[in-house]
This record gives sequence, structure tokens and C-alpha cells, in this order.
Amino acid sequence: MNKDLSLLIKLQSLDTEISKKEKKKDVFSQQIEEIEGKIEILEKELVSREKELKQIKKEKRKKEREIEDIDLLLSKYEGEKYKVKSQGEFAALEKEINEAKKNKTKIEDILLELMEKEEKDMVDFPSFKKGAAEKKENLKKKRDIVVINLENTTKEEKDLKNERVKLTSQLNFVLLNQYTQLSKGKKGPIVVPMEDGVCEGCNMRVSPSLMGKIKKGEEIVYCENCSRILYTLDNIR
Ligand SMILES: [Zn+2]
Repeated sequence: MNKDLSLLIKLQSLDTEISKKEKKKDVFSQQIEEIEGKIEILEKELVSREKELKQIKKEKRKKEREIEDIDLLLSKYEGEKYKVKSQGEFAALEKEINEAKKNKTKIEDILLELMEKEEKDMVDFPSFKKGAAEKKENLKKKRDIVVINLENTTKEEKDLKNERVKLTSQLNFVLLNQYTQLSKGKKGPIVVPMEDGVCEGCNMRVSPSLMGKIKKGEEIVYCENCSRILYTLDNIR
């Protein structure tokens, strides 16, 4: 068999392998991105739950201070009760006291709600935190495995590419150029077998004169219809 032709067939199978590795790398990279996205969401959720808990504590302290202020005000009013000189003044003071008490009740209700929420969060948060840490750990392990897969595939691809360089250096330059141009213009293989007198690239019948040349396998033969390079499997077996 023509040496260039057998090199071309090898080159094509190398290119197929390289393209498989590239696709694999894309899949691994995407997986890594997805896992890292999940880790990020977990971290964000943890931060937001921590923030929420802090916010409740802060809100609670604020309400407690408001109640203290109202209590101060109420005891001040109680003192004033003994100093009022008229029924009108007394009634006005009573009204103030009632307002303050009503306000205090409202704030106490809010405080109670906050306390209940805080209590619930204090119970829930540690188990959430623990769960999140475990999930994160698992995701990281998963990611590390994919990273190793990616590294291995990258190395394999590099080896194949080195092999390709070696191979192309042995190949006729014009032929290599033709192969490259044909590869750019067509989907699938460029160097194809002739099966039962038909080109496997375009499924068209090959003329008898070409068939003879292909069977000899001494020169590079192009399909008259699709320009792919033809060979016969009999010459490889
Ligand atoms: Zn063809």
C-alpha cells in the first residue's frame, strides 16, 4: 500500500481520537463548573442564614430597648400622677399612660415573635450548617475526581498531538494540505474505504478505471463525486 495513504489513514484515526478527547475535556470542564456553582450556592445560603440570625438578635435588642424606654416613661407618668392639680390634667396623663401601655403591648408581641423565630433558628441552624458542610465536602471530593479526569484527558490529548506532529512530518506536504482543506470543508472522515464499488463518503458508485487504481493501492485516488481520498480495506487487511 502507498506509504502516504497508510499515513493518512493513521492521521485520520489520530484526529478522531483527538477530537474525542476534546469533547471529553469539554464535558469535564462543564461538570467542574456545575459543581463549583453548587458549592457557591451552599456558601451563599450559609452566609445568608447567619446574617438572618444576627439580624433577628439585633432587632430583638432594639425592641427590648424600646420597652425599657416605655417603662421609664410609664414610671415617670406614675410620679406625675401625684403632682397634677386638675381633673383635666389627670385625664390627659391617663390618656398618655394608656397610649404608652398599648404601644408597649404591641412591641412585646413583636419581641415574642422574634424570640420564637430566634429559638427556632438556633435549633435549625447548627444542623443546617452541619448538613451544608457535609454536602460541600462531598461536592469537593466529586470535583477533585473530575479535575483528575480532566488532567488525564489533557495529557492524553497532548500525547496524541505529539504523535500527530511526528506523523505529519513524514507525510507528503501537498497531501497533508489537501487533507486539511478537505477536513475543513466536510463533515466526517476524509479518507474513506470503497465498499462494493461504492464510496463510503458520498455513497456514489466509483468508476471502473478508478476502482482498478484503488485496488492497486499504489497512488492516491480521489472520489470523482466528493473528492474524498479512497482506499480499499483489502489493502489494509
Ligand atoms: Zn465520494
